[in-house]
Amino acid sequence: MSILIYAESAEGKFKKVAFELASYAKKVAETLGTTVTALTINAGDVSELAKYGVDKVLKVSNDKLNGFTAKAYADAIKQAAQKEASKVILLSSTTDSIYLSSLVAVGLDAGYASNVVGLPVSTAPFQVKRNAFSNKAFNITEITTDVKVLGLAKNSYGIFETPSTLTEEDFAPSISDADFGVKVASVEKVSGKVSIADADIVVSAGRGLKGPENWGMVEELATVLGAATACSKPVSDLGWRPHSEHVGQTGKPVATNLYIAIGISGAIQHIAGISSSKVKVVINSDPEAPFFKVADYGIVGDAFEIVPQLIEKLKAF
Ligand code: FAD
Repeated sequence: MSILIYAESAEGKFKKVAFELASYAKKVAETLGTTVTALTINAGDVSELAKYGVDKVLKVSNDKLNGFTAKAYADAIKQAAQKEASKVILLSSTTDSIYLSSLVAVGLDAGYASNVVGLPVSTAPFQVKRNAFSNKAFNITEITTDVKVLGLAKNSYGIFETPSTLTEEDFAPSISDADFGVKVASVEKVSGKVSIADADIVVSAGRGLKGPENWGMVEELATVLGAATACSKPVSDLGWRPHSEHVGQTGKPVATNLYIAIGISGAIQHIAGISSSKVKVVINSDPEAPFFKVADYGIVGDAFEIVPQLIEKLKAF
């Protein structure tokens, strides 16, 4: 009765969320006195998972599953859970995994809690803490079904190395042609060098930058830091930046280690999408800008003076 995780990968490489999920699963497994099994789909070399405490990998290799196909992926996870008699199934909170979680829960007649943060509050009864109301509050949710599906909020636990001895097993779930009736190809437009989804650091800018011609310094700062670039909603609405960079309540959620906001006022709808980021740095000329209330570090001043200095210092570092 091991815990099952779905270790997400893209083009044969694990996503960072897979390592966070494995680290989390290891700790939950210790609490429950069990082991961790990971399901991988066309992930190539899976040995990396041993670093994060995974005990066993069920490897699915099937060309038909290249590209995300919700029904077929959900069927594979469901069958893996049944094979391992797993009572706890863990998924990440990427767009794909959020979609899969509910399908898996329905397939297994399981209770599902999304946006879980931290380890279970208690295991009997089984209660977890979850982000609620756009991360402005927490709630404690009890799952009463025998099988439980949890969606771990991104960047809420961290990645920890706990080496294990990994066994690998090929796994061929029975997936019917009907599962491929609708195939959703997820295409992420990446305007910077690093995608927002995988970034450790995001450099984001707002209307305070006055126009698209001023984004050179944002991109340069992002390059120096190895960061992704992002923006506020009006910036993408105005066509200064692509919509794929829009973060916030109606855009992409960002849960990075470091979020740098330049010339963004900090409207509630923007904060809702970035509040799970660990360290928030705000650069704004208005000392009354609401963003300063949630900032860990704030610089009051003109972005056009501060950002070039920051770049210079970082380059010299
Ligand atoms: P502004 O509000 O114009 O702020 C610009 C900031 O730049 C100001 O604080 C100003 O002091 C500062 N500034 C100006 N010049 C400089 C300078 N030289 N140096 C440094 N700072 C300077 N917004 C989002 O971002 N994401 C969302 O998902 C989102 N969803 C929404 C959903 C709904 C239903 C609604 C109604 C709104 C939504 N919004 C969203 C819009 C949101 O309410 C704000 O209007 C928006 O976030 C403001 O963008 P901004 O901070 O870039 O611009």
